[in-house]
Amino acid sequence: MKSLQDAVGNLKGVGPKRVADLATLGIDTVEDLLTYYPSRYDDVTPVDLATVKDRQKVTVQGIVVSEPLLTRFGYRRSRLAFRIQVGQQVVLVTFFNQPYLEKKVKLNQPATVMGKWDAQRQQVTANKLVTASDQAKAGAGAIYPVNKHLRQATLKGLIKQAFDDYQNVIPTLLPKPLRDHYRLLDRRTMIHDLHFPKNATVAQAARRTAAYEEFFLFQLRLQAIRQANRHADGNRILYHNDELKEFIAGIGFELTDAQKRVVNEICRNLREPYQMNRLLQGDVGSGKTIVAAIAIYATITAGYQAALMAPTEILAAQHAEKLAKVFAGTHVHVGLLTGSLTAKQHRELGKAIKSGDVNLVIGTHALIQDDVDYANLGLVITDEQHRFGVNQRQRLREKGDQPDVLAMTATPIPRTLAITAYGEMDVSVIDELPAGRKPIETRWLTVSQQNQALHFLRDQLAAGAQAYVVSPLIEESEALDVQNATDLYNELAEYFGPRYRVGLLHGRLSGEEKDDVMHRFQDGQIQVLVSTTVVEVGVDNPNATVMMIYNADRFGLAQLHQLRGRVGRGDRQSYCLLLADPKTDEGKERMKTMVATNDGFVVAQKDMELRGAGDVLGNKQSGVPDFKVGDPVSDLKMLQVAREDAANLLKTPHWDEQDENQPLVLYLHRHQLETHFD
Ligand code: ADP
Ligand code: MG
Repeated sequence: MKSLQDAVGNLKGVGPKRVADLATLGIDTVEDLLTYYPSRYDDVTPVDLATVKDRQKVTVQGIVVSEPLLTRFGYRRSRLAFRIQVGQQVVLVTFFNQPYLEKKVKLNQPATVMGKWDAQRQQVTANKLVTASDQAKAGAGAIYPVNKHLRQATLKGLIKQAFDDYQNVIPTLLPKPLRDHYRLLDRRTMIHDLHFPKNATVAQAARRTAAYEEFFLFQLRLQAIRQANRHADGNRILYHNDELKEFIAGIGFELTDAQKRVVNEICRNLREPYQMNRLLQGDVGSGKTIVAAIAIYATITAGYQAALMAPTEILAAQHAEKLAKVFAGTHVHVGLLTGSLTAKQHRELGKAIKSGDVNLVIGTHALIQDDVDYANLGLVITDEQHRFGVNQRQRLREKGDQPDVLAMTATPIPRTLAITAYGEMDVSVIDELPAGRKPIETRWLTVSQQNQALHFLRDQLAAGAQAYVVSPLIEESEALDVQNATDLYNELAEYFGPRYRVGLLHGRLSGEEKDDVMHRFQDGQIQVLVSTTVVEVGVDNPNATVMMIYNADRFGLAQLHQLRGRVGRGDRQSYCLLLADPKTDEGKERMKTMVATNDGFVVAQKDMELRGAGDVLGNKQSGVPDFKVGDPVSDLKMLQVAREDAANLLKTPHWDEQDENQPLVLYLHRHQLETHFD
């Protein structure tokens, strides 16, 4: 029996190479292929020439009324010209350098051409010919996001083939009452019309169904998780209040009022017999880590284990080291679990976690692998939680018996969206920096002022401080990023040496090498750390006073703000130097914003204004998931409606036993959720 879950390799003519190519686009199953939607459509709907402006892109349809005339110039260049009659008008069509089209253009036959309209000459400079057979071939107008492994035409062909083979086994997921109410399409029609629309209107209608379906399924998963978590009671974590107070008194600084407030919110949740589900927002440097430490300590005094999951090895290692210091001399025993342990180390740590000897487990997503068993996990914390998906977060919490959950993020998210994406999560905000912090001074220099910047840096080093230097970002290629960082490292090692030592950090180093560089930077053996953006998150060295960023205009505001947050963590005045010659107004605006404010919420607001909300929020950094079709900003209303609809369905008694909802139930199971409905 055919199923949309069949691997793409089941399609005829799709061998291992193709399977691998498709995997690069995230396509593994037939369903992945069928829901790999076009990013846009070449509009093949012919236009009325009377309404078209000069130089505008047009699609024109008519009858060929002159024999096509091919003229060649030299070896490669050619011009193909013919006339078509459009309504009462005769229009000249010219193609350059596509001599093979001559054979496709037939006198007295219809032809559709796409190109640019020249109003004065009443002619189209065309780049594409859509023949009658092209139009009959499905999906002529759909344009897919592809990469170097797959061509448009190949992908289109595969989608067509998959649709032909599987169209009869496409179950509709959305319940009928909802489809009727919003006039949505069944899933088979929706998929057909997204790939092979007759015209733009049809595509638009299919897109509407797809956006709703996507939002609805997302909300259903989220709320099913939440319902499962809410229905089971949580633990009462009865921590030892005196011990906790003593611990807080020994931290070495006074908590800010905001930190105190948030600690109280968390501690109240810990004591209660319900499962805590709390998001902790706070700008970089606001002191989230110590708040987490207090929650961990409380949990452990009550006899439970705690786990802290970070998105990168560097960050996990740093948390482990810092917290080991914070907890020195207490009964907290820290274990660091990452992918770079040897099999033996992993086994031994695994035992200690299972027995409870290690009561604070810190690590990357290694924490949620199947072979890791916890003794009694009472609290799970995710740092930079937007870097993890819904399922990863859920798997971590399933490692315990209803553990309390604290998710930390330094990326401000507008409240409406936070609620929609995270639902009923409680939100705590640290909206205050520790006292005595000197605001970071940010300067924007042109690239030609590089020497000035380096002099400045040298003066800071002479005064005993340390510095980060971030090399230019080349998004397309990690190899080039590494090359760039290495070149810059060599240059600066020469410039500053032998008096000051320079270190290099990038994503291609092994875990051990990264640790080593970080340690030497932390200990002051290295004064200047040259790095790609791997230092972006979380790294903490209070003695670093300069963050110098090459080609700063290549970075987005959120990222620049994160990078800047690496300095200004101690008593010394800190600086952020942006080297940039931005070519666009938007780039200039970004530099000016960085110079003007240190406030993460203001930066986020400006980011949204500059890039458009959709770009900011549709992006992984925001914590709002990447939807394929729907846009959480422009379709916010729909997202909210879908949220209510999902909630209502889950509230309907025995909804999951009704025949017509079985595709949805299967969908939820496939997405690996241990859901318990009543
Ligand atoms: P975040 O994780 O929010 O970016 P951290 O928790 O790493 O921030 O804190 C940044 C630095 O400030 C750390 O060195 C930390 O020890 C210090 N810190 C945190 N809270 C306070 C406070 N109330 N007073 C002084 N220093 C603090
Ligand atoms: Mg942090």
